[in-house]
Amino acid sequence: MSENDKIKLRIIPTGTMHADLTWLLIDPGRMATKAQPEKLKDWVEVPTHVVYIEHPSGKKILWDAGVPRDWETRWGPTGLDQFFPVDTVTEGMWLDSRLKQLDVEASDIDYLLLSHLHMDHASNAKFFQDSGTKIIINEEEKKGALSFDGYNQGAHIKSDYDGLTFDTVSEDTEILPGVTLLQTPGHTWGTMSLKVDLADSGTMIFASDSLYLKESYGPPAIAAGIVYDTVAWFTSVEKIRAIEEKTNATVVFGHSAEQLTDLRLGPDEYYA
Ligand SMILES: [Zn+2]
Repeated sequence: MSENDKIKLRIIPTGTMHADLTWLLIDPGRMATKAQPEKLKDWVEVPTHVVYIEHPSGKKILWDAGVPRDWETRWGPTGLDQFFPVDTVTEGMWLDSRLKQLDVEASDIDYLLLSHLHMDHASNAKFFQDSGTKIIINEEEKKGALSFDGYNQGAHIKSDYDGLTFDTVSEDTEILPGVTLLQTPGHTWGTMSLKVDLADSGTMIFASDSLYLKESYGPPAIAAGIVYDTVAWFTSVEKIRAIEEKTNATVVFGHSAEQLTDLRLGPDEYYA
């Protein structure tokens, strides 16, 4: 198999937030107790990433869309700018800079696959509004995200995505050979994960917010501060685990600073 016949995949950091760990991990072991009433908050790094895929068919895919340059303005009305400041980012890390580094424009991206529509994953989706890019989300995510009035509901900020034309899926769907959207709801109405089968590196599963951290995965799995449907979330985690065990996959967590240091990072490096 020549390099051109292989899927090439780049994991690309797109800016790091900080937040209280409680948002990410409801871990009794780290909470205040009678013996430890003054437990300090854990203010931790919460990196974001996108995945850029060049498919042997010639199609280009982007998984998620990072955080926006104007996060203070856009997140300010929600208060989320205080909880999740994007305070560790360099000029070259914003999504538009990353696309330039990859030498692609929005119109070169055939598919934008969004794990869900939270503001740290979907807020650059409008880069792709008139680019001819097919934007794919889960049907329930679309319904939920458009179901409320006002500026935001939790971390869904309507202006990030209203007016976009979406294609939706409701079951596990192979978008292109070797590139499959997995339905892993629970974090939000219709959060998805992405499975990519690579020739040399094997299967990789990008869990997005279905699994924030290694500690979320366990076993046992530990839920997070933001889970819309806890039962569905646990079911989704075990679904990912079953696929991981069957395919010997690498599971890439949605916001793990620790894991990112172990991964090959783009744009320079890639998996094939
Ligand atoms: Zn989320």
